[in-house]
Amino acid sequence: MPFTEKDLDAWLYEARPVAGCRTCEEEWERRRKALAERDGWGAFAASQAIRRHPGHSGCR
Ligand SMILES: [Zn+2]
Repeated sequence: MPFTEKDLDAWLYEARPVAGCRTCEEEWERRRKALAERDGWGAFAASQAIRRHPGHSGCR
C-alpha cells in the first residue's frame, strides 16, 4: 500500500472528538485555529491530544 504525504497529513491531523467531552471540544477548537493559521505543529499537537487523552470524561 503506497503511503503518500497526503495520507500522512490525514493521519497527523486526524482526530475524532467525542461529543460532550470538554477536553475534546477545547482541543478541537485549538486544532481548528491552528489549521486556520497554517500552524501544522499546533494542529498536530491538538489532534494528538484528542487521540490520546484518557477517558473522554471532561474531568481534569
Ligand atoms: Zn475527549
